[in-house]
Amino acid sequence: MTTTEAAIRIRGLRKAYGPLVAVDGIDLDVHRGETFALLGPNGAGKSTTIEILEGYRDRTSGDVHVLGVDPSHGGLDWKARMGIVLQSSAEAAQTTVREQLAHFASLYPNPRRVDDVLDAVGLREKAKTRISRLSGGQRRRVDVALGIIGRPELLFLDEPTTGFDPEARREFWGLVRQLKSEGTTILLTTHYLDEAAQLSDRAGVIAGGRLIEVGPVGSIGGADARIPIVRWRDAGGLRERRTAEPAALVAALTAELGGEPSELEVVRPGLEDIYLDLVAAAAASDTKEQAA
Ligand code: ADP
Repeated sequence: MTTTEAAIRIRGLRKAYGPLVAVDGIDLDVHRGETFALLGPNGAGKSTTIEILEGYRDRTSGDVHVLGVDPSHGGLDWKARMGIVLQSSAEAAQTTVREQLAHFASLYPNPRRVDDVLDAVGLREKAKTRISRLSGGQRRRVDVALGIIGRPELLFLDEPTTGFDPEARREFWGLVRQLKSEGTTILLTTHYLDEAAQLSDRAGVIAGGRLIEVGPVGSIGGADARIPIVRWRDAGGLRERRTAEPAALVAALTAELGGEPSELEVVRPGLEDIYLDLVAAAAASDTKEQAA
């Protein structure tokens, strides 16, 4: 296996649950060392795709390689190279945080030090606390700690910061950046588009089982999707215009009004606006296809 090989390689992936086609022909490469965000509305097919990659679900057809191995034949040595942080929280175990981490560490050939992981997830002070006594956000950190203790080459993070307060989320972002700087490949799903924009190199949008868009987070949706919007209020109400030259428009407006435009703002659409437009457009074209 060479290091130039993609960490994840998907070709023509399909998964049907009886008559329902949940994943409808996905092609995707996730490069080594990359943080990739998989975005999409509920029911789009994200979990199905990820569970196939993790080896937890069979596929109907298509080729999949994860760390060079077909997940349907992945053995324990292959599993040990991955870290998985599932959506559901850790069991409310009666063991302490440190005991739980030490136990998981013993299952891997080259684990991180328990103390390093406690520091990384901010649970050093809770090391001797039973997991059942932790808050929801703290338990989530235990999930993350268990996902990284084995020093994974590839880390799956499924909605990792759900239930975090803003401060904990910022700290978690720092941890993800640290893992990335150590060379970890990360596949992230999140409903927080700011999180995807902050952490990912590239993102893919899944809707209706298809990958409708993929690209660097800074250019997804194309240049037109990022044309700034100028908003202001005049006697006729709230106005909005899109222009590539917002400064010129604001200058013209100011001259025309003879002063400051009321409630003036210039915004550049962010990943969330662009994502919502992409998903709405995909839903509209599906409706059209069904009607035809
Ligand atoms: P997402 O993770 O994007 O919310 P899922 O992959 O969970 O999407 O689901 C995609 C579609 O497949 C949905 O319509 C869902 O209801 C359906 N689905 C998921 N798992 C099963 C299953 N085990 N049996 C039948 N249908 C399923």
